[in-house]
Amino acid sequence: CGITGYLGHREAYPIVMNGLQRLEYRGYDSAGIVLADEKNVKLYKTKGKVSSLRKIAEKNDVHGNLGLGHTRWATHGIPNDENSHPHFSNSGNIAIVHNGIIENYDTIKKELIARGYTFKSDTDTEVLVNLIEEVKIKNNCKLGKAVQMALSTAVGAYAIAVFDVNEPTEIIVARLGSPIAIGIGENNEEFFVASDASPFIEYTKDAIYLDDEELAIIKLGKEIRIRKIKDDSFV
Ligand code: GLU
Repeated sequence: CGITGYLGHREAYPIVMNGLQRLEYRGYDSAGIVLADEKNVKLYKTKGKVSSLRKIAEKNDVHGNLGLGHTRWATHGIPNDENSHPHFSNSGNIAIVHNGIIENYDTIKKELIARGYTFKSDTDTEVLVNLIEEVKIKNNCKLGKAVQMALSTAVGAYAIAVFDVNEPTEIIVARLGSPIAIGIGENNEEFFVASDASPFIEYTKDAIYLDDEELAIIKLGKEIRIRKIKDDSFV
């Protein structure tokens, strides 16, 4: 299973799709990609191979300067199209890709259902993205803070990448137990995200590997900010 992403001035699609192919060796049962720019968001996902995903995507619009790709190794919910990642929050505003497990997803899911949330998939991941949304609305805070607060509630192991479709110049990544690397382009003009550096090695040698319980706020044109998930002073 794997995560790969791009944010910058290039078309994200070829970079993310080639990245997914490089991560195939890690094993997976489904693949998906979300692409975004200031105008719209596109989601393609399917059970099966990255090559099948490529066929579906290339019949459609693949433009966007932000892209997140995922290969899934199902833990919660059978391998099918709907359970494949990326997943969106109920409002459609927040997108996530996730490797790993949220152990207490069932408790959180029940709480969210009681607050009116609905679920399209059987995954723990869709629970996490809706928890992030709930926390963000409730606290009226930035996405990075909402992800940090949601992860403080979640028990489990994960690498995640998240963005808000209304702000396609920022990606939040975090890890606990699953690897995540960030590649940095010149002058912070572009960024790469991946489970290992192989998807972006040809673009940049400047890479950061997140430690466990770290969260990174990746924003175009800015230095990456890294925070501890358990840091209460996080703003
Ligand atoms: N637990 C998540 C799921 O079942 C992520 C699995 C993975 O690591 O790919 O969808």
